[in-house]
Amino acid sequence: MRHTSSFDFEGVKGYKFGYHPFGKPFLFAHIYYIDGLLIDTGQSQMRKDVFQKLKDLPVQQIFITHFHEDHTGNVEMLQKHFDCPVFASQKCIDIMKNPPSISMPQKIFWGSRPSYINFQKVGKTIQTQNYTFQIIPIPGHSKDMIGLYEPTKKWLFSADLYVYYYINYFLKGESVLTQIDSLKRVLELDFEVIFCGHNPQLSDGKEKMQKKVLFFEDFYQKVSNLYQKGKSASQIMKELQLKESWFLRILSNGALSKINMVKSVIRDEEKKNKNF
Ligand SMILES: [Zn+2]
Repeated sequence: MRHTSSFDFEGVKGYKFGYHPFGKPFLFAHIYYIDGLLIDTGQSQMRKDVFQKLKDLPVQQIFITHFHEDHTGNVEMLQKHFDCPVFASQKCIDIMKNPPSISMPQKIFWGSRPSYINFQKVGKTIQTQNYTFQIIPIPGHSKDMIGLYEPTKKWLFSADLYVYYYINYFLKGESVLTQIDSLKRVLELDFEVIFCGHNPQLSDGKEKMQKKVLFFEDFYQKVSNLYQKGKSASQIMKELQLKESWFLRILSNGALSKINMVKSVIRDEEKKNKNF
């Protein structure tokens, strides 16, 4: 089944797309549009619907938050249609030249993501007719991730930094510690609205982001304490009574799992030890 819906908040148009091969979609990607600027391009599984919804917008530039397939899935099609520049971080540009393969569940729910090279490196800001968006590096979920901040409207386009105030599984390369740093960096900004890539929060954005820092800090603390006592990742899972998302873990051949979150903390702790 396919899902498409949209909303308008203070002139920002949000487009929500979801796909499931036989049931109701439960994973959604958002594309945003404001003042000639398109933010992300959705999943390729929803390409036709994305095109139908967006084709008449007066898009002048496209901004890509990070290389994941639910954000870059239609970049080539939309760039050709709007014939406009596509901006991304240098890291994203480098990764997209030869992007890593994606796991089975990602392919099923989001679709494939071929390489793409027609990017321009984003500067410190993105200018539209009425707004100046500051570029905010927010790595952790992926190392190339950047967000947009508009101070006069208190808008934060946060890509996948928020998603929810807690999280149940990680991709292999994600880092809890880097995400905590990124969350703290955005919390220094004065924002109210989170235009999240998956779960927009139109009020109390800052409080919600704070809640996520607390969740991650608590998780990090608990895991690192047990790691310092010599426990392995699977022993830590047991002691903290963390439930594995087995369906995802097996289907993705380990690319997506809860134990990835535990391993991410262990990796960060090992790095710290090396630096001493
Ligand atoms: Zn992502």
